[in-house]
Amino acid sequence: MDLTTSYVFDAAHRIAGHPGKCAWLHGHTYHLEVTVSSPTLNQLGMVMDFDDLRDVVRKAVLDLWDHATLLAAGDPLGPAIRAVQHEAPDRIVLLEGQPTAEILTREAWRRLEEQVPTGITLERVAIRETPACGSSISRRGT
Ligand SMILES: [Zn+2]
Repeated sequence: MDLTTSYVFDAAHRIAGHPGKCAWLHGHTYHLEVTVSSPTLNQLGMVMDFDDLRDVVRKAVLDLWDHATLLAAGDPLGPAIRAVQHEAPDRIVLLEGQPTAEILTREAWRRLEEQVPTGITLERVAIRETPACGSSISRRGT
């Protein structure tokens, strides 16, 4: 049986080298959806407690990315923003690859898979940049 929770976080990003407007630093209110499963329910009739799943997602993703600037590792904006926002160096997150919805989804999947409790399977991670545009990864390949 599956269990799904949804989250919202705000972050800035840009796609350096993009031929259009995505090259300029801008922000999104991202919507993150996480689905986990278990073949059995616990004694309370749950896959896992919603609050426990929220704690996992908060530690794995939200604490890092909410109100952060997400950039590719080689983007010169990283050091530039650090220079003027030196009080919060952890709010500049450098990724292996451009901070597209696809790369963020893949990174969120990797981080979440490391932290879901034993006996719980990560099934799906979906991130939307806008109500119309997003990316997802599913263990079941859908
Ligand atoms: Zn964007």
